[in-house]
Amino acid sequence: MGRYSIFAVAAGALGGNRGWRPAWRKAVPKPSYEVVIVGGGGHGLATAHYLAREHGITDVAVVEKGWIGSGNVGRNTTIVRSNYMLDRTVPFYEASLKLWEGLSHDLNFNVMFSSRGVINLAHTPAQMDIFTRRANSMMLNGIAAEMLDVAGLRRRVPLLDVSPAARFPVVGAIHQARGGTARHDAVAWGYARAADSRGVDIIENCEVTGFLREGDRITGVRTTRGDIRARKTAVAVAGSTSQVMALAGIDDLPIESHVLQAFVSEGMKPALDVVVTFGAGHLYISQSDKGGLVFGGDIDGYNSYAQRGNLPIVEDVASAALAMFPAFSRVRLLRTWGGLMDMTMDGQPIITTGPLPGLYLNCGWCYEGFKATPASGFTFAWTIAKDEPHPLNAPFRLDRFRQGRVLDEKGRGPYPGHH
Ligand SMILES: Cc1cc2nc3c(=O)[nH]c(=O)nc-3n(C[C@H](O)[C@H](O)[C@H](O)COP(=O)(O)OP(=O)(O)OC[C@H]3O[C@@H](n4cnc5c(N)ncnc54)[C@H](O)[C@@H]3O)c2cc1C
Repeated sequence: MGRYSIFAVAAGALGGNRGWRPAWRKAVPKPSYEVVIVGGGGHGLATAHYLAREHGITDVAVVEKGWIGSGNVGRNTTIVRSNYMLDRTVPFYEASLKLWEGLSHDLNFNVMFSSRGVINLAHTPAQMDIFTRRANSMMLNGIAAEMLDVAGLRRRVPLLDVSPAARFPVVGAIHQARGGTARHDAVAWGYARAADSRGVDIIENCEVTGFLREGDRITGVRTTRGDIRARKTAVAVAGSTSQVMALAGIDDLPIESHVLQAFVSEGMKPALDVVVTFGAGHLYISQSDKGGLVFGGDIDGYNSYAQRGNLPIVEDVASAALAMFPAFSRVRLLRTWGGLMDMTMDGQPIITTGPLPGLYLNCGWCYEGFKATPASGFTFAWTIAKDEPHPLNAPFRLDRFRQGRVLDEKGRGPYPGHH
C-alpha cells in the first residue's frame, strides 16, 4: 500500500490518475484467525488498527454485515469533544481527543478533524452553575474550558439569537475550543486502510448469524459466508448489540436501541464556524466544510431497530434550529437519515472482557460513540490483547449496573435533551 502524500497526488496526476489502488483489499474469510471482530463500524475498525499497530496482532478479521461505514460511523453528526465532568470519564474522552488531534498523520488519511470549538448553551442560571462546575472539573483534569456570557456569545456566534425575547433565552455557555468535528466516513475508511495495510482482513457483506462454542467458551462465529474460528471474538456492533449478543445467549444487557436522526441542509457560504449545542431545546448544529448545516436532536422515545427517521422529529428539530438561528429559516433541508443508538442507562459505554470466555464486548455508546472512536479502539485492543482493561476503560465494566456503581455523568445518557 503506497503512502498518500503530495508527491503521490502529483505522480498520480502525471500518470493520468490510473495507478490508484483500492484503499483496502476485498478480503475473503479464512477458516480461522487469532481475533475476529464483529462489526466494521468506527470502533471495530479502530480496534483492528490498534491491535495491529500497538500489539503486533495482525491475524485479525473484521466481519461486517453491510459495507464499511454503513452504520453509525457514517451517519452521525460528527461532533468531537472532551468536556465531561467525572474523574472516571474525563480522562477517557480527553485521551480520545488527543488521538483525534494526530489521527490524520497516524492513519496517513485526511479525516478532516477540525478543532473549531464546541459551545454548549445554558438557558437558566442553574444550568450555568452546572456548566461552571463542569468547566472547573475539566480544568482540574488539565483540560482548558471557557465560560461565555451573552456578550461573548454574540461576538462568537453572530447568527445565534441571544435576545431576551428569544423562544429559549440564552444566559451563557461553556466553550471547549479544542472540540470540533471530523469527516465521519473518512474515519471509517482511514482506519480500514491502516488496518488492512498491516494485514488485517476486512470482510464486508458477511453477517454474523451465530457463535461457535465449546461449552461456555466462544470459539468463533457463524456467518453468511461460513464459519470462522477465532481464539478471541470481539463484538462491536453498536445499535445491534442486543440482537447479536442474544445469538450468544446473552439477553439481559442494560442496553436499549433507539433511532437517532440527522439532517443536512443545502450548501451555503460559511455562516457558522463553531459547533453549537442547545440541550434545553434539543439541537446540535455545525456547518460542514462543504457548506451544509449538519444538525440533530433527540432519540425517538421508543425502542426500535428501524434505521430510518420520521416526520415529527424532523419538524421538532427544524423548529429548534430556527428558534436559535432565525436567519436559517430559508435554508432548504437536503437529506435526513436515521441511525441505531445503543443506549445504556447511565449514558456511558461498556468495554470489557466477557461476558463469556473467549468473548469481548464494546457497546453502549449512546450519543458519545463517534468522539470516542479512537480511545475506544485503543482501549478495546488493549483489553483483547492483554485480557484486562486499560486504566482508561477500567470504569466501563458491565457489572457496574449490577453493583449500582453507575457513572452518573449528569446531562448524558438516554434522557431527552442531552447530547
Ligand atoms: C444520527 C446520529 C448522530 C450522532 N452524532 C454523534 C456525534 O455528533 N458525536 C458522537 O460522538 N457520536 C454521535 N453519534 C453516535 C455514534 O455515531 C455512535 O455511537 C458510533 O458510531 C457507534 O460505533 P460504531 O461506529 O462502531 O458503530 P457502527 O458504525 O454502527 O458499527 C457497527 C457495525 O456493526 C455491523 N453489524 C451489526 N450487526 C452485525 C452482524 N450480525 N454481523 C456483522 N456486522 C454487524 C453494522 O452493520 C455496523 O456497520 C451519533 C449517532 C447517530 C445515529
